[in-house]
Amino acid sequence: MDTSKKIRTRFAPSPTGFMHIGNLRTAIYTYIIAKKYGGDFILRIEDTDQERYVEGAVEKIYDTLRVCGLNWDEGPDIGGPVGPYIQSERMGIYKEYALKLIESGHAYYCFCTKERIDALHKAQQEAKVSNMMYDRHCRNLPKEEVDRLLAEGTPYVIRQKMPLEGSTSRFLYEIAAPIPNDQILIKADGMPTYNFANVIDDHLMGITHVVRGNEYLSSAPKYNLLYEAFGWDIPEYIHVEHIMRDAQHKLSKRDGDAYFGDFVDKGFYVPAIINYIALLGWAPKGENEIFSLDELVQEFDISGLSKSPAVFDIVKMKAINAEHLRRLSHDEFKALALPYIRQTCKREDIDIDVLVKTLQPRTELFTDIPEKVDFIDEMPEYSDELYFNKKMKTNAETGLSALKMLLPVLGGVEDWNEENIHSAIFAEIEKQGVKNGFMLWPLRVALSGKALTPGGGIELAAILGKDETIRRTEAAITKLGG
Ligand code: GLU
Repeated sequence: MDTSKKIRTRFAPSPTGFMHIGNLRTAIYTYIIAKKYGGDFILRIEDTDQERYVEGAVEKIYDTLRVCGLNWDEGPDIGGPVGPYIQSERMGIYKEYALKLIESGHAYYCFCTKERIDALHKAQQEAKVSNMMYDRHCRNLPKEEVDRLLAEGTPYVIRQKMPLEGSTSRFLYEIAAPIPNDQILIKADGMPTYNFANVIDDHLMGITHVVRGNEYLSSAPKYNLLYEAFGWDIPEYIHVEHIMRDAQHKLSKRDGDAYFGDFVDKGFYVPAIINYIALLGWAPKGENEIFSLDELVQEFDISGLSKSPAVFDIVKMKAINAEHLRRLSHDEFKALALPYIRQTCKREDIDIDVLVKTLQPRTELFTDIPEKVDFIDEMPEYSDELYFNKKMKTNAETGLSALKMLLPVLGGVEDWNEENIHSAIFAEIEKQGVKNGFMLWPLRVALSGKALTPGGGIELAAILGKDETIRRTEAAITKLGG
């Protein structure tokens, strides 16, 4: 990678809907490459295809990038020295450059009617020609003829004059391309095609490195011919591989796992989403795979980009999420977890910090939390069978006697906190000469009505407070017939 001049990268999404994670990955790599080398990260909205335009999609792009911390240095909303940064606001520019190509002999006016093109298309289809090629009918029209048709106001498109010999299989990867079609640069309505606009914009915006999906690889030779026709430097291309659902299928929206927002809704933590997506197609040098965005900027090296498609692995993504959550400070985790806790646990008289502390190491996704804490507001119905625990050697009968021993002990704790509850219960365990689980398992069941809880009996008691703990212990004793 050439880093001798100031790096300028661009993320150039089309406002066609929600942010696909493949696009987000492109944005992440684009951002990282700029930041790693002290360069500029530019946001450009590519809305030339008005038919695909989706209302609100531009705001969605802004929101997603901001939430992810992928802050741009120049863009439609903040401006910059080479704006406008929305293609539809740059319309005059493209035509001007297409006319320059006509002058230099690299492009030409094509006056073929839609009927003629359709007939050509049909004939090629019938002859089973695999890719539709324009037959270059207008390529060599005499200048007088062109002038006459223009003067008459005949509708036209502008086409690129592809070289008829030589090879376009240059740079980066060998692409054995046949002589390419004389592609349209400016459409009949005066709008540029994407293939033309991106070259003009990348040049005028001083883009040095273009990160984009592999589906653009086959177009790169055509772009290069345009750069050469203008005498411009060709940016460095970094084509990234597809993200696959499995060995055969690309990850598509049908999978319900294709958009950034899907993962947020599923309870993923945004920095973990970024971390995982960055690993889809890029491998760090060392063993560690857990990175914040800033750490990714430090670690990233283009040589770690994969040359084969990445298969999406939700299990790994969850593990990475859990690891990110564990690394948060208590207060950070608390702020993020609280809205999920409050979905099912509205009580204010609990020790929320103990609850948060017990949840943090046990939470994989935020959306796991509401179900984990729902017992706090209200004891669920539960079966006495829950007291049976093979490993702890407990059952309903031993549970009853343990709870009866514990009740006065709990009542005697003056200053109700985790440490004091712990000392009191362990003193009793020692006094009675029983195993820890003999006391602690029944307490957990009595306080939660669940086998799986955030924390053990002592933590649950601390969370619930003294009155509620005693109330639930008494209720459990009654339930067990004591
Ligand atoms: N607007 C194109 C897209 O969203 C960008 C492709 C490119 O990066 O050149 O696919």
